[in-house]
Amino acid sequence: MRVLLVEDEEGLRRPLAALLARQGYQVHEAGSLAEAWDRMVNAEPDLVVLDVMLPEGEDAGFRFAEELRATGFEGPILFITARDAVEDRVQGLDLGGDDYLTKPFSLEEFAARVRALLRRTGEVRQSRVERGPLVVDLASRRVVWAGREVLLTAREFALLELFLLHPERIFTPEELLDRLFPEADSGLKIVRVYVHRLRRKLGPEVVVTVPGGYRLGVE
Ligand code: CA
Repeated sequence: MRVLLVEDEEGLRRPLAALLARQGYQVHEAGSLAEAWDRMVNAEPDLVVLDVMLPEGEDAGFRFAEELRATGFEGPILFITARDAVEDRVQGLDLGGDDYLTKPFSLEEFAARVRALLRRTGEVRQSRVERGPLVVDLASRRVVWAGREVLLTAREFALLELFLLHPERIFTPEELLDRLFPEADSGLKIVRVYVHRLRRKLGPEVVVTVPGGYRLGVE
């Protein structure tokens, strides 16, 4: 699952991004509205976490939410803000927000809200994917290979999910590194390690090596 995190305070954005990454989400960070629009193009997020007061103005987050809905974004939006006046909450929810978290909040509370919002989305969207011997429930993260349930770590699952959601696409090792392990400093080796793990836990054919990179190997 992909999360777009819009927050201009680095001191808050960094720990939130790290927490989400540890839980296996692909995180795209933005520190301003301009960056947020840039990220929207490629990230196709399942959830947007949105600060209200941004460099573009004290209501910038509300405006972004309104425009997101106008452009057809249907995923959940979680506002995070220091402003806790009742009318602000109402305004945020009126503009298409799904939940509202007032700063300061604990990381545990944040994680719980994110999980709850994404669970709701998961129930709405068709979450079961079947490809050859592989059956995956994207919402519950249950993976079955040739009739046997296989336990994947959050990162292994994120890699498999990426291939499943783009079954025809070839991913270069650089792109996988960028999307799944943005904080890794071991270079492309980590991509090879995770592809190897998926092949070992599932079957060697689940991800195939092709000119230019990797793609899903089961149909
Ligand atoms: Ca702010």
